[in-house]
Amino acid sequence: MKLQCQIEVINRVHSSLNIRSNGKYLKSTLALGKEPKNENEYFILHFSSNNKNGTKYKLKSIKQVFVKCINEGKATIRFEEPPHDLCIKCEVIQLKSFMRLLKSCITGDTKDLKLSNLSSLAITANNIAPTKLTIHDRSEFPAKGLPRTLESLHIVGLKLCNFRRDILLLSHLVVLDLSNNEIEKIPPEFGRLPSISELYLANNCLGVKDQIDWRWLLGVQITKKLKLLDLSGNKIKELPKSIWKLQNLITLKIDNNNLKRLPASLGRINTLRYLTVSQNSLQSLPCGLMQCRLDYIDLSANMFVPGNGTLKTGNYSQWEFYVNSLVHIASKVVLNKKLFYAPNIIPRTLVELLDNANICVCGKSVLNHSYFIIKEFQLKDLYRVVVFNNNHSCAVGFECYFCSPKCFMK
Ligand SMILES: [Zn+2]
Repeated sequence: MKLQCQIEVINRVHSSLNIRSNGKYLKSTLALGKEPKNENEYFILHFSSNNKNGTKYKLKSIKQVFVKCINEGKATIRFEEPPHDLCIKCEVIQLKSFMRLLKSCITGDTKDLKLSNLSSLAITANNIAPTKLTIHDRSEFPAKGLPRTLESLHIVGLKLCNFRRDILLLSHLVVLDLSNNEIEKIPPEFGRLPSISELYLANNCLGVKDQIDWRWLLGVQITKKLKLLDLSGNKIKELPKSIWKLQNLITLKIDNNNLKRLPASLGRINTLRYLTVSQNSLQSLPCGLMQCRLDYIDLSANMFVPGNGTLKTGNYSQWEFYVNSLVHIASKVVLNKKLFYAPNIIPRTLVELLDNANICVCGKSVLNHSYFIIKEFQLKDLYRVVVFNNNHSCAVGFECYFCSPKCFMK
């Protein structure tokens, strides 16, 4: 049996901690069902607009049922484990018949009762609020638009040229797969989606026309949650320097693009573990990448040139190498202490300076770009699993910068 009602869940652990509940009754469904494996075990499932997967309560763990106000359409079921009180508000007649049924389940007087089992209940609940949608054909787009409850959306291989703007309304979306389309642009508003954790954009047309506007990737909301980003099979020539803002990124795939270099700021993403950059035009790697504790890196089919260890210098005087300018000293503090900055906090020129900063072999920031050496390092000494063309020698030239003469001498 199912009961449509309003429910407030009170966690008694919280109440003993003196955290007051918010007094919010949510539109809910209570379902009473029977365990498929054990005929004598019953349970209550509670679904609400906040909890679409439902919480299951065993009838065995009911501690008390309060029905004093049942004539006003109110009742409370108290469970031992989890320590929840379900405060129910409902139409009186329906509530009474639900409680009657509940009582007969508890007392075991249930010979004539027909209760559906857990799996069928779960299916009906999912129909009410779909959380997953896969579209293989244009005719499969829902007529009423994409359901706002979606948490996972796959629109794959439809030759879509434009990013569908109704995706921007899906604030619960966690996984978005738009692989194998022909999308050239993602709107900046995408960066405001608060829950996106996995984003698949493989085999699209990003970067085909002009420079990519990366605001969609660097929005305040998306940078907090994104863990997986798949950009393989596009025409990307350059990654944004402010990619360091993706502070929870674990997996980055950028195989089969037109990259000539990787930004040094990639080394500032502490969470990065999987990096695949095969089939690009990389000639060297930024020294900052040595700071990443990668479990897996794929660098096959690139154009690495052997390092020769010679020092390249720019127009800076030696003096500047030893004594930094005030701006450089201040910037180093910002970077080494990992202080957050953005164009709305400090001038844009400073943001650029900080985003362009390199990382020394020792891990400290370097703002002076004039002295660097291409030095070969064995990838196998740095990362756990390495995929590379020539497996006998995994040496790759790193563009090394130095924070001080001391590091340079090493
Ligand atoms: Zn150093």
